[in-house]
Parts: sequence; structure tokens; C-alpha cells
Amino acid sequence: MARKKDAFKELKEKLTLSPKPVWDQLAAKEKKAAERLAEDYRRFLSVAKTERECVEAMVALLKKKGFTAEPSARYYTVFRDKMLAVMVAGKKPPYYGLRLIATHIDSPRLDLKLHPLYEDLDLAFLKTHYYGGIKKYHWVARPLALHGVVVKPDGRKVKVVIGEDPGDPVLTVCDLLPHLSRKVQGDKKLSEAIPGEKLNVLVGGLPLVGSSEDKERVKLSILKILHEKYGLTEEDFISAELEVVPAGQAVEVGLDRAFIGGYGQDDRICAFAALAAVLELPEPLYSTLVIFMDKEEIGSDGNTGAKSRFLEKLVYEYLKLYGVTPQGDTVLETFLRSKAVSGDVTAGMDPHYMEVHEKLNDARLGYGVVLTKYTGHGGKYMANDAHAEYMAWLRRVFSEAGVIYQAASMGKVDEGGGGTVAKYLAVYGMDIVDMGPPLLSMHSPFEVAHKADLYMTYKAYRAFLSAGD
Ligand code: MN
Ligand code: MN
Repeated sequence: MARKKDAFKELKEKLTLSPKPVWDQLAAKEKKAAERLAEDYRRFLSVAKTERECVEAMVALLKKKGFTAEPSARYYTVFRDKMLAVMVAGKKPPYYGLRLIATHIDSPRLDLKLHPLYEDLDLAFLKTHYYGGIKKYHWVARPLALHGVVVKPDGRKVKVVIGEDPGDPVLTVCDLLPHLSRKVQGDKKLSEAIPGEKLNVLVGGLPLVGSSEDKERVKLSILKILHEKYGLTEEDFISAELEVVPAGQAVEVGLDRAFIGGYGQDDRICAFAALAAVLELPEPLYSTLVIFMDKEEIGSDGNTGAKSRFLEKLVYEYLKLYGVTPQGDTVLETFLRSKAVSGDVTAGMDPHYMEVHEKLNDARLGYGVVLTKYTGHGGKYMANDAHAEYMAWLRRVFSEAGVIYQAASMGKVDEGGGGTVAKYLAVYGMDIVDMGPPLLSMHSPFEVAHKADLYMTYKAYRAFLSAGD
């Protein structure tokens, strides 16, 4: 009887896939490395709340590690302050194909309108238009900060950050009290309970000293404060990009501190993991290109999004670095020979919402980096469905580098879906697949990631960038 059981166990081990938590499989040394990485990430996430701030924070780290702005073996390029590309020359010049990781550094938020400031009932507000896929009820009754840039007609850029320093005031979007909201909110669909036009940010309540006959004294008082602090006038909002984001630092979550919680982890967790992987990358076999893109959350349009042809120009310049003058199909040929990863997050299974998840095929927090063969919706529509050959190659790379991964899709069939930049890069003919950690509360102001998944994402990116054929 005992022998029979052993044979069963042996066969089961040989033939079945049985995922285990990453934490169970890490040596003490690796657990420490994972904790260190999570702390560096928490700090990065706390200061990099806009795409421009991300670029700035990442460039500072690149410079510290000896990367240059001028073409060299390890260099970077910034495009319009919102997109960043990092290159590490390999033993093989770029023409042999690149190892490319693309992530995005824009996140859902409330953008100020062009004429944002108004006063009503002696209260001053800023009007917003939300950016990306938000659930509007997430943005009311919480401390908010204002981050961004104002560009003056003479080209001067004024950076704005209000609501982050301990001495700073914060801003907020007010919600209706339950005593009065039964009909206007309670009886409505969740998506209709808070209209976009009501996402106005409270910024002032002290009237400027003057005659009570004077109109809009609170509004003028706010303009005066902005003028004194930043030199702004009302017209300057027209040439500004001011983003209302959750105020405060990213934090550890859980009594056991298993998680990092904070705003913008879609997709800054992948951006940070990719940066960490490339910062100390030893000379790889294939030339590396890690790119941090903008506009993913609104469809990748615009000249800093994945649909722009910036990537072609970038590779053109990269090829020239090796004395090749690209002509004809050189750039396209380079892309065709490339292997790519779309570094993006996916939905982690939430045990309270299993009606939308498919237990066998969705991602679990703490089970490692997720390899997402396809995204899309309803019949894999709009998906980049990676090829089996490419998945097989990645399995080998992971196994050789000790990367703990899970293969997953997002949600039950026909339940919903989503997309990433993968399909825009696939246009060039390279092999590409989605790879990143799962999140809980994705697209909310307080997203939650597991430290072990961040660590495995970093390890996966590093293994991918260093891999041979
Ligand atoms: Mn994303
Ligand atoms: Mn997203």
C-alpha cells in the first residue's frame, strides 16, 4: 500500500504543475534582497507621481550609476520630459536584435481643466477632467496633492508640488453626506453616482480683504497665493499640466508587511523593476533597450505614446552608434530580430470577487511574476497573443535564472478585459509578451502589490535582458 502511494506521489510530482508561494522558496538572503528592493521602490513611488517626475527620478538614478545622456555603451535619452529610453550596449551590436522592455509611467488621475478655477458660495474649486480608467467614487473625500508643471510663454518651466511636505495643506474633492445622498447617489448605478463634472477640488475659503461688494474674493485670494508662490496668473493654466493625485507616501501594508500600498503602481512597479534590472546590468550578449512610455492609460496615442514612431528614430540612432548608417529596412530588420517584453501589471485574484476571476488561470499575489500570453477581451479581441515558441524560450530563461513565475490571464472569459502597449510594438514584427506583477485594487488611488512579486519581476527582467539565444 505504501509503495503504491509513493508511486502516485512520484507521478504527480513529475506530471502536474503545483504552484507554491514565492516566500516559501526564497533563501534568507533573497528575502533580504526582496525587502531592500521593496524599500527602494516605496521611496521611488512616493516621489514619482507624474510621468515627468518619474523621468526625473529615474534619470537621477541613471546618472548615479554612470549612464550618460550622450550616446555611449550605457546611455539614456529623454523625449519631451515624459518618455525615457535606456540603452546598454551588448556584445552583439543592436543590428543582431535587441532585448527590449517597454513599460509605461503615466497613471490614472484627475487633470486640471484649462479654465479650472472658480468660486461658488464663497468656496474656491479647481475643475478637473479625469485621465484614464478611474472609478470616480475613489477620488472623493480623500487627501489629494497637486503635481505638475506650468510653462510660461517665455519657455520658463515652473514645477508645482502642493500637498506632500509635512507643512503643506492638501486638497480634496468633497462627497455628499449619507443623510442627503439616498436618492442622488444611493439609488444610482455605481458608475453614475458621482458624475465627472462633480470631481472639483476644494482649494480655498478665505475671502481676500476688500469690500463685501467685490465679487469672487476667494478666487482672487487663491490666484494671489499661486502668484506669490509660483508667479502664476489665471492664463498660465492654459499652458500647464497639473495633475491631482493622492497625497502622501507609499507605505508597507499588512501586519506582516507583505505588501507595498500606494498610488500609481500601474505601471510604475514595472518601470521601477525594469530600471533596477538595467542599472547594474553586466554587459549583456544582446544590446538592451528599456523604454518608459507615456499615454498608455488613454490609448497610447500622442507623440509620447507607444503608437508614436519615436521608437524607430531611437533604434536608428542606436544603430548609428556602431557606425552603421541604417538604410532601407535596417531598422525594421533590427526589430524583427528583437525579443521584447511589455512590462505591465495584471489583476491579482481577490477572494471576495471570485465571480469575475477564473481560479485556475488568474494571477495570485505572492506567486511570482506573471507571464500573460494574451490580454484583450471577448474572443481575445485586440490581443497580442504571444507565440508558443516565445513562451517556451521564456520558460527556459526563467528556469535557468531561478525566476518564479505564474502564467495567467485576466478574469473570466467575457467578463471584461484590457490591453497594454504589447500590440503596438508587435506591429514591428518582434516577439513580445506581457510580464509584470499582479495588483490588488488596480487603478485605484491605493494599489497593492506583493513584495515577492516585485522581486520576481525584477529578477525576470534581469534574466530576460541578460539572456542568450
Ligand atoms: Mn498598465
Ligand atoms: Mn492601467
